[in-house]
Amino acid sequence: MASITLKDLVKAYGDTEVLHHVEGEISDGEFIVVVGPSGCGKSTLLRMVAGLETVTSGTIRIGDKVVNQLEPADRDIAMVFQNYALYPHMSVRENMAYGLKIRKISKDEIARRVEEAADILELRPYLDRKPRQLSGGQRQRVAMGRAIVRNPQVFLFDEPLSNLDAKLRVQMRLEIRKLQQRLGVTSIYVTHDQVEAMTLGDRLMVLNGGYVEQFGTPIELYDRP
Ligand code: ADP
Ligand code: ADP
Repeated sequence: MASITLKDLVKAYGDTEVLHHVEGEISDGEFIVVVGPSGCGKSTLLRMVAGLETVTSGTIRIGDKVVNQLEPADRDIAMVFQNYALYPHMSVRENMAYGLKIRKISKDEIARRVEEAADILELRPYLDRKPRQLSGGQRQRVAMGRAIVRNPQVFLFDEPLSNLDAKLRVQMRLEIRKLQQRLGVTSIYVTHDQVEAMTLGDRLMVLNGGYVEQFGTPIELYDRP
């Protein structure tokens, strides 16, 4: 677990600034939802924390480390994507193990982590299936399993439920929340869905046009006149 500090964070593409002086303190174990309309900069912000976009100016700190210059692999984060990004030719087990295999982690330790994650996500019966033999919800759980086995300090979720139908979305939302509470991993979750944001977030960072419009608990935001 780790706190995250965003300080005077700016992102520009060429001459166009798309994130303007974003500030935010995220505590250890907190679940933050970044919410706002399409194009407001949510994904860019998340990708900067992940190290998939460069920082134009400002600072991103995870724990006591400034991570601006670090490669994604050195940031101690795990990201869950909208499109799952599973390897179709690999089994569920292999998909979950893959990111660990190319780090120097022992076979036994990998097997232990994969089975532990499979238990948490109720994926044990599916470990030898291929992604195409799974439902959408199960695929999303595999994507989460792949993040969990990394044992990260931070989870980053990029609209992870937007490819699911409405009913499954509600169910998976609850699962994600329970999972995060159980693991206590500091999390940033990006969505354009306000209900999802209100249901999931300890606090919501509301972005609009690249500015942080509000940053507070659902109750604080709901009670605002
Ligand atoms: P959101 O995730 O909230 O939909 P994005 O972070 O994807 O918003 O985009 C924020 C703004 O940055 C948008 O105006 C988008 O067009 C612009 N943008 C995103 N990626 C690039 C890029 N690679 N080059 C130029 N502009 C970009
Ligand atoms: P490595 O473990 O050597 O980083 P991976 O295949 O796991 O190799 O990852 C390749 C790149 O993608 C790395 O930069 C890694 O940090 C990133 N990556 C892989 N899986 C995830 C994930 N679930 N969340 C965040 N980043 C990931």
